[in-house]
Amino acid sequence: MSGAAKTDDLLARFREGDRWACGRLITLAENRDPGFPDLLAQVWDGVGAAWRTGVTGPPGVGKSTLVNALAGHLADQGRSVGVLAVDPTSPFSGGALLGDRIRMTSAEERRDDVFVRSMATRGSLGGLAQAAPDACDVLDAFGTAEVIVETVGVGQAEWDVAGACDTVVVVLHPHGGDGVQFLKAGILEQADLFVINKADLPGADKAHAELADALSYRAAGSEGAWEPPILLTVATDGTGVAEAASALEAHRAWLERSGAKDTARAAKLEERVRRGVEEEVLHRLWERGSAELHAALSNGSRVPHAVVDELVEKLGEGGPQS
Ligand code: GDP
Repeated sequence: MSGAAKTDDLLARFREGDRWACGRLITLAENRDPGFPDLLAQVWDGVGAAWRTGVTGPPGVGKSTLVNALAGHLADQGRSVGVLAVDPTSPFSGGALLGDRIRMTSAEERRDDVFVRSMATRGSLGGLAQAAPDACDVLDAFGTAEVIVETVGVGQAEWDVAGACDTVVVVLHPHGGDGVQFLKAGILEQADLFVINKADLPGADKAHAELADALSYRAAGSEGAWEPPILLTVATDGTGVAEAASALEAHRAWLERSGAKDTARAAKLEERVRRGVEEEVLHRLWERGSAELHAALSNGSRVPHAVVDELVEKLGEGGPQS
């Protein structure tokens, strides 16, 4: 089959609801394949109906278990669910965690109504901040009603991935002072929902009270603003999972009722485009300026600012795009 015929076949299968084709498109997004943007453009009309929930929090708090439980709960209600388990850390240092995700995939794939997929960094650092929303778009165009994006930890790259979703859930657990550290990172202001998981362990009520206290210092929102609820769950036995799903639904209803959904989506899309521009411009300039740049850098003969100016001026020169 020719390249074009293969592409047509892939798209035809995708439109027919073939999971293999959906997985293949996600792989192309993950690999930042040069052919991906055209493929996405061809299914772009179908993007927009899915609800995207980002779940983030320190490793070990039970995000993966909670997302499994939540996905199962939503699927039981007849919703089509896609889970993206995103690991922006190095595939080497993140090997064990990634292994867990792969095991989760094989267990969950037995459920017809939950599509689970791991995504790891391929090449450039931060690339997943681009690739994860692309993969969400693929699931969205595939007709998935609920897309849940779970990150392994809580670094900047992971926050970027979760923060691109419609609803951002931050998961904490009763112990270890994670909460305090986490809040220092400024995430308090941006979470739509907090979950204290492992509520079967001692300290959950205290953690709840501390978090509620910290949230009370949040700048008072305008009349009718969303106030992030704090939920307690035991992901291992499902306690609180239905309530968490209801809270997600309430956030969605609030966004839709208040008209904030479209504004928020537009702002997130803008951020995504801005990052894309940064990456692309940097790449092109780096390629074009490489010989002189390396010479100037290796002998340290010029102030960095002059090198920056020179590179940026090249932007206006046109010329071959690398
Ligand atoms: P993640 O790293 O945040 O994704 O955490 P995992 O979902 O992999 O869970 C880490 C460990 O905590 C696993 O051994 C889970 O079985 C356990 N765990 C998850 N949820 C709960 C819970 O609600 N209560 C208790 N006691 N353990 C839990």
